[in-house]
Amino acid sequence: MTDTFVIAGAGFAGAKAAEALREEGFDGRIVLIGAEHDRPYERPPLSKDYLRGDVERETIYVHPEGFYVEHDVELQAGRRAVELDLARRELVLDDGESLRYDRLLLATGAEPRRLSISGSELDGVLYLRSVTDCDALRERLDRGGSLVVVGGGWIGSEVAACARTRGLDVTVLDPQTVPLERVLGHEVGAAYRDIHLDHGVRMRPGTAVAAFEGADSVERVRTSAGDTIDCDFVVVGVGVRPCIELAERAGIAVGDGILVDERLESSVPGVFAAGDVANAHHPFYGERVRVEHWNNALHQGPTAALNMLDRAVAYDALQYFFSDQYETGMEYTGLARTWDRVVFRGDPASREFIAFWLTGDRVVAGMNFNVWDVSETIQQLIRSRAEVDDAQLADPGVPLGALVPEAEGRVA
Ligand SMILES: Cc1cc2nc3c(=O)[nH]c(=O)nc-3n(C[C@H](O)[C@H](O)[C@H](O)COP(=O)(O)OP(=O)(O)OC[C@H]3O[C@@H](n4cnc5c(N)ncnc54)[C@H](O)[C@@H]3O)c2cc1C
Repeated sequence: MTDTFVIAGAGFAGAKAAEALREEGFDGRIVLIGAEHDRPYERPPLSKDYLRGDVERETIYVHPEGFYVEHDVELQAGRRAVELDLARRELVLDDGESLRYDRLLLATGAEPRRLSISGSELDGVLYLRSVTDCDALRERLDRGGSLVVVGGGWIGSEVAACARTRGLDVTVLDPQTVPLERVLGHEVGAAYRDIHLDHGVRMRPGTAVAAFEGADSVERVRTSAGDTIDCDFVVVGVGVRPCIELAERAGIAVGDGILVDERLESSVPGVFAAGDVANAHHPFYGERVRVEHWNNALHQGPTAALNMLDRAVAYDALQYFFSDQYETGMEYTGLARTWDRVVFRGDPASREFIAFWLTGDRVVAGMNFNVWDVSETIQQLIRSRAEVDDAQLADPGVPLGALVPEAEGRVA
């Protein structure tokens, strides 16, 4: 009898895991269970070109339509896994069907944190995670008017940029002093603030939402400062929470995500987790990391697949993500939860620069902003743990590669 590998969650991580299983020659049964009614798609375009209406829907999918049939992957879209019976090795679906598995991958991703303040239930208070959410938001953008964005994180900032590009009146409410402050700190966040201001976004730093008001639909937002902002609709982007319920109820170790080792295996042998839901021991950092980014799902899915096939592969990729807002683009490499200082190569005001986050004399993260083809070198610099001189780091005349020790196989 052939083995059955079940993947719960048909997002990016789940779809890439199924692809990798076939690429690696697994010839057993693969069942990919997805709560959404669509085939797996990528989410970054939902706050960028797809949201603006600049690309066709077909461009967002992970695979062409025929892929799953051609590769004998049983994609079961529109079905939710509701229980996990570890003793019987069965996943129970929402219609009561039980699926026996030999190996299980939990790739259930994350979902937006929801506000529960007065008026949260009003029509026009929107969140953005799925393509269905995005289509609803697109329709609002088409109608024009005034938008209040709650939260100056990545989703809030990108939605604000799309809405301004479409000509809407946009206000961003954010308890932080600048957008993206939690991840990037004040100095780099200030560069994003200035870009939004230049494009006519009204920024309300240090201001939280207190309530949504309106008859049936939201008409205004009451702020923590006590004033109100009239609007036609609201987008809330206040972070996500990992979808751990299946694992938690079954007794698998969870915390902020499903706790997995460096091979992405959970506390229960044969059950793996990948993508936004996985809180994985990271060999480079020597601690657990949960990452909510596209690149992590892209690589963790296949790594989990290899380990489902007993290949014993550690996942040690450094975090990498990107963002596009207006005419600017950036890539961020590494992880800076705390840092001592930020060193700039180039002037942030010029909107072409690289920022480095340092702990002691070591670079722990770097962000290239409208500067390209350097993220691989930044990654080598972080991995090398080399001590660097601030002046050299800041000097555009010193090739970045020259700061990477020879042993790291540096690129120029
Ligand atoms: C609007 C938006 C823009 C983004 N932009 C960027 C970007 O620019 N750069 C970047 O690096 N990252 C970006 N991200 C983050 C990136 O998309 C995520 O990190 C990535 O989608 C994670 O993939 P995943 O497969 O782990 O989870 P998900 O994409 O969340 O997929 C999980 C899937 O599992 C399903 N599921 C959950 N529970 C169950 C269940 N019990 N049974 C069956 N199915 C279930 C969910 O419905 C979902 O379809 C963005 C995210 C969003 C929402």
